[in-house]
Amino acid sequence: MKTALVTGGSRGIGAAICRRLARDGFRVVVHYNRNRERAETLAAELCKATGLPHIALPAELAGRAAVEELFRLAGPVDVLVNNAGIAQQKLFTDVTEEDWRRVFAVDVDGVFRCCQCALPHMIHEKAGSIVNISSMWGQVGASCEVAYSAAKAAVIGLTKALAQELGPSHIRVNCVCPGVIDTEMNAALGADTMDALREETPLGRIGAPEDVAAAVSFLAGEESSFVTGQILGVNGGFVIPG
Ligand code: NAP
Repeated sequence: MKTALVTGGSRGIGAAICRRLARDGFRVVVHYNRNRERAETLAAELCKATGLPHIALPAELAGRAAVEELFRLAGPVDVLVNNAGIAQQKLFTDVTEEDWRRVFAVDVDGVFRCCQCALPHMIHEKAGSIVNISSMWGQVGASCEVAYSAAKAAVIGLTKALAQELGPSHIRVNCVCPGVIDTEMNAALGADTMDALREETPLGRIGAPEDVAAAVSFLAGEESSFVTGQILGVNGGFVIPG
């Protein structure tokens, strides 16, 4: 039985990834920060559905000690999905030092810490798959989301470099860049903005968390065994990098 740890598994895209990986046969560690009840309910639902011992574990990813404790309690992790993240909409001139550091502490440093904590087991096994969730804004940048875009671009850079470093250890590192996905992260955008984003999307719809989960499932599993260092857009054609 292989274990997959999904950060930010309590809701949104992370919860869909947990459901999908449980269906794929992984024992899932549903990581959460504040939403304990939702994470524990999801883990219980997955246990019932699959008969495997899925669990929910907390950690504030902005701190090293909490992340180390998360991995100690999780046990050996074969697949790591770095999904947890925070966004921020602000004019660049209004972004404070504190805002900037907070976005990077969670979206970049959290990924760095989780990778470091997962790797000793993967290196020992000479096997493993890491899937990082960035954003299409990390590929092309978004107005009024400079900190978020820069942090998500850093995740893409980390993915490419780490894939090269870990290839000889047979550990794959890939990245999924979602477009506009229907989750609480976009709750503040309002119906008009969501309609405009839908119209701007060539496939004519907002994405579902399950769309992202399907891409993660592919990158986590053996069918992508010759795929590493890649950036996979799941955005309905909104962004098509050259
Ligand atoms: P969401 O609904 O806001 O959920 C965020 C998740 O991250 C929650 O599980 C939350 O845990 C966890 N989290 C937040 N801050 C944390 C912290 N400091 N420490 C540990 N965990 C923390 O987000 P989502 O829309 O599902 O997005 C998931 C990922 O996809 C993010 O990386 C996001 O940047 C990326 N993404 C989303 C979209 C989109 O349109 N939704 C587009 C592109 C990329 P709790 O619930 O326990 O607080």
